Amino acid sequence: MSWWKKLKGKISFNERLNKHTTFKIGGPCGYFIEPEDIDDLKLALSLLKKYHVPFLVIGAGSNVLVSDRGLIGAVLHLTAPSFTKLTFKGNIAETGAGCPLQKLISEAAKRALSGYELLSGIPGTVGGALVMNAGSGKNQRNFGDLVEKVTIMDYNSNIKVLTGKQLKFSYRKSNLSGCIILSARIKFNKGNKKEAAGKIREYLSYRKNSQDSAHPSAGCIFKNPVGFSAGKLIDSCGLKGSSIGRASISLKHANFIINRGKASSGDVMKLIALAKRKVKNKFNIDLKPEIQIWR
Ligand SMILES: Cc1cc2nc3c(=O)[nH]c(=O)nc-3n(C[C@H](O)[C@H](O)[C@H](O)COP(=O)(O)OP(=O)(O)OC[C@H]3O[C@@H](n4cnc5c(N)ncnc54)[C@H](O)[C@@H]3O)c2cc1C
Repeated sequence: MSWWKKLKGKISFNERLNKHTTFKIGGPCGYFIEPEDIDDLKLALSLLKKYHVPFLVIGAGSNVLVSDRGLIGAVLHLTAPSFTKLTFKGNIAETGAGCPLQKLISEAAKRALSGYELLSGIPGTVGGALVMNAGSGKNQRNFGDLVEKVTIMDYNSNIKVLTGKQLKFSYRKSNLSGCIILSARIKFNKGNKKEAAGKIREYLSYRKNSQDSAHPSAGCIFKNPVGFSAGKLIDSCGLKGSSIGRASISLKHANFIINRGKASSGDVMKLIALAKRKVKNKFNIDLKPEIQIWR
């Protein structure tokens, strides 16, 4: 059944997802669909529903571990220009879900708009950063903090606008999973161009020094348990540098698992299990994954 022929956007078959994840891990998916615009996305959803094809949405793939066996069904990727638009009016940005978070922050800084510099260097899209409520820093600055409005499409292709109390954000969590994020309105603080650019440089250099950027990864594997740093707990178990296959616990940041080339999803899963087991045995703390595991 060639149902996909009705779509205007790009579609590829058996697309390997390692090309679309920062871990560089992941087997093929049945259909990799890049809808051209909102109408095309609506059509894609109705066809997927009609033909009972399960699907997932991927942003920059920077918080997912995809099985080497791949995924049954479709993966939707919002990269067409109508999903990556970014415009500013005063201190308000209107951004498509596919816009890179980094672009949003640096374009805001050029306009002397401030508030999110701490998130510089997070390699996700606006959509992924909303779902995950991406954040950073000791006092936690989270992406949800200054979001005014989010436009979503539910799985029945209805478009809804969520504002105020309809939006719920907590530590690496939001109420935006289970829908497709289309766009968002972000409110920045009025700031100073030079200061904003300086803060971005400072945070990027902090990341470079504290995180393992030399190897593919998905950032922090585990959430920090209340009152603890997952990285410090793993480090205290002496696990830095532990390797299984081509995957290793980073020597620089114990909450990062790195792909030293051709690591399998199984290698990473085994290291995740090892870190969980050691931390449980030593501290009686259950580490919970921050990354999304697709298998
Ligand atoms: C080197 C490195 C450093 C990192 N540092 C940080 C950090 O400091 N703080 C932090 O919070 N995170 C960090 N991360 C993790 C990651 O970058 C963030 O979670 C990011 O927000 C994920 O965005 P993404 O577009 O890559 O989402 P993906 O990984 O593609 O997806 C994540 C989730 O969002 C969903 N999703 C994505 N787009 C949409 C959409 N349009 N509609 C509906 N659902 C969608 C996916 O289905 C999935 O469930 C880091 C990752 C790396 C590799």
